[in-house]
Amino acid sequence: MSIIAAEAKPLSKKQIRHFVGGVRGALGISNHVCVDVEQLIDIVLPRAIPQFHYDVREPSYMADKHGEADPADMRISLREDVYDGMVAGNGRDRFTVLHEIGHLFLHQSDRIVLNRQTSHEKLKAYKDPEWQADFFAGEFLAFHGFVNRFSGPREMALAMGLSERAAQVRWSIYKQDGLVAA
Ligand SMILES: [Zn+2]
Repeated sequence: MSIIAAEAKPLSKKQIRHFVGGVRGALGISNHVCVDVEQLIDIVLPRAIPQFHYDVREPSYMADKHGEADPADMRISLREDVYDGMVAGNGRDRFTVLHEIGHLFLHQSDRIVLNRQTSHEKLKAYKDPEWQADFFAGEFLAFHGFVNRFSGPREMALAMGLSERAAQVRWSIYKQDGLVAA
């Protein structure tokens, strides 16, 4: 059995990290340890990219999807409870918003190819658009330039508005990459 899967042009962790630094700089938020995500989608992104817009949709419409991105239209859609959670500072919902924004930046049509693959064949992480968007979101919210200020993932989670789970994932990546000592 084969399926048609969306495969993104490969991006390494290092490339995404570098790219996120550039985007944060271009948006004028490079020194923000904790990103104000509500301000990002209401003010910062629309000012930098006039085509950018977002909408908030009923849970009945979105079903099990937390968010969705349409890179051609520069639009993200957020499930209402995810939007509310983001406004309230919930780490998981903040991450979802940045994941969808990651798709807008990383997955314009020239970076996506449709590939026939057998179902047991797993997409290599660096070509998987979902992995890429997750990595973008993690780097954006927990920018590597700040991580050595923290003694561990819990402190980082509090300072950067991450869920504990996301902070643990980031921390182990930064440890692996030699960006934090402990
Ligand atoms: Zn996605």
